[in-house]
Amino acid sequence: MNPKFLHAANPGPMTGEGNWTYLIGDRHPVLIDAGVGNASHLDAIAAAAPRGPSLVLVTHAHSDHVSGAPAIHARWPAAEFQKYRWPSRTGNRELGTDSGVRWIWLEDGSIVETDDGPLLVLHTPGHSPDHVTFWHAGSRTLFVGDMLVQGSTVVIPASHGGSLAAYLRSLERMLQLNPARALPAHGPVIDDPAALIHKYIEHRADREKQVLGSLADGVSTVESITAAIYPSLTDALVPMARESVLAHLQKLEGEGKVSRDGERWIIA
Ligand SMILES: [Zn+2]
Repeated sequence: MNPKFLHAANPGPMTGEGNWTYLIGDRHPVLIDAGVGNASHLDAIAAAAPRGPSLVLVTHAHSDHVSGAPAIHARWPAAEFQKYRWPSRTGNRELGTDSGVRWIWLEDGSIVETDDGPLLVLHTPGHSPDHVTFWHAGSRTLFVGDMLVQGSTVVIPASHGGSLAAYLRSLERMLQLNPARALPAHGPVIDDPAALIHKYIEHRADREKQVLGSLADGVSTVESITAAIYPSLTDALVPMARESVLAHLQKLEGEGKVSRDGERWIIA
């Protein structure tokens, strides 16, 4: 399979250079991720698929992946939209339900037919509860959305539906597919997904040790643990680091290894 790489033209502090979206096939083009509705993205879709996409698959309902749905719907009203359900965001304006976008909900194990063969839908929560990846077995290509980013780690927004425990389980599932390449929403093509996944798992294990080490030293709030683990962080990055620390604490809490008492966390 040779998907066309279409840039969403949305660079910014949270998206880096911006998002990649992918267009599969010619007769019934399938677009993976909706971008944000920028005119140049819509024009790139029109150039690659003059009659527009037959189907838009969305990896998850973060705005850089889904908020272009209303603009795509307005330009190509026949396009269908599919994603996995995220109950608390189902009526969200960015999904465009109030501008006429009708979503069909994907399930884990759903098969989506494309001109280049079937895509298997894998529910891979963790970065968000609704995250899915799309597996093209014929070419062993995995469309990974925000699950993997070459040269970086992935934010687990623990206060906004992220779960580190779920994320690690999802990575294990992706590993079992033994993908030959991963096509991410951010950054370059990942030619050795297994190596990156192993690095991620190792990185999280190291961080977990640091969190437990802080707790053992009597450092007990998310703020103070963040300051201990990331001493030289710029102010702008502190909120993300706190989410990461909270994600670790929630995972450890789920395993019965730590407990919380108001703002304070202690080893159980
Ligand atoms: Zn995301």
